[in-house]
Amino acid sequence: MTKILIIYTGGTIGMVNDAKTGVLIPFDFEQIKANVPELARLDYEMSVHSFNPIIDSSNMHPNQWKVLAELIKENYEEFDGFVILHGSDTMSFTASALSFMLKNLAKPVILTGSQLPIGEIRTDAKENLITALEIAATKNNGKAVVPEVCIYFDNQLFRGNRSIKYNTEKFEAFRSPNYPILAEAGVLLTFFHKEILPVPTAPFYIQTEFDANIGVLKVYPGITEEVVAAVTKSRVRAIVLETFGSGNTTTDEWFTDALAQAIDNGKIIVDISQCKRGSVQLGMYETSSKLKKMGVVSGYDMTFETAVTKLMYLLAAGISDAEIRQQMEVSIVGELTH
Ligand code: ASP
Repeated sequence: MTKILIIYTGGTIGMVNDAKTGVLIPFDFEQIKANVPELARLDYEMSVHSFNPIIDSSNMHPNQWKVLAELIKENYEEFDGFVILHGSDTMSFTASALSFMLKNLAKPVILTGSQLPIGEIRTDAKENLITALEIAATKNNGKAVVPEVCIYFDNQLFRGNRSIKYNTEKFEAFRSPNYPILAEAGVLLTFFHKEILPVPTAPFYIQTEFDANIGVLKVYPGITEEVVAAVTKSRVRAIVLETFGSGNTTTDEWFTDALAQAIDNGKIIVDISQCKRGSVQLGMYETSSKLKKMGVVSGYDMTFETAVTKLMYLLAAGISDAEIRQQMEVSIVGELTH
């Protein structure tokens, strides 16, 4: 029988109204089958592991990514797939981080959550949970159909490291602006096989270290020297530079000098666009050719969530700065197009 491990970290999905007080309290996922009777009709053996304490995902931290990766490693042989219940706020960060941590992943790791608590009548939690379980259980010739870290939300399956939280109000909370969806749930569950990573043959292992010593500099017209210096002169090892359009910034000398100096001082600067769709193309305009010449790294079409987690991961990978720069510009696990 197919075995799925459900890992419950917290978030809106796990809330129910207390019958006596009417207050929202955490739902007991250990009792999941009793509370969501539809699950009994699924033909899988399900186990639940709950975080203690459960957390709102705004409190997620690389330490918890490590806990998740270790849990998956400990249970990797025993289970066919993993469903992680997670708050939607930082779900894309966790999915991106896990995509780098879980090496040679041959089994589905599906993150899901909901916009309304599982106890609400109009909840989106049940559909999200049930379909996430189905996806985690789907195999073809004994092999997982989706051997990737994904987010399933509102009928769509996204590659985790391509996803962004896009909407705070609609059930359609996530989008994948620069990569097609991997599957769609309608009357049928349709997988788009050519978009899905192949099943690796090398053995699975995890890499759990992160170095969060990075900074973020988002440019805007009128940005001051003081604000730029607060990041470029800080002790961070690397900076995610969020630029205009295809990677552009002001050409004011004080600005480009501040970046060049940071690079001379050994900082790695990665350029990603404030536009959600499309890619950075350093050197396309005069306003980015200076950046290219001074050694700014192109983040191409990576999401902010992925640029941040990938940098933290590479900074802790025990490789040289030259290798980090090189790895930032290539796809490790389908996170960028170049
Ligand atoms: N604040 C919640 C969280 O991310 C929202 C949600 O679950 O969707 O944990």
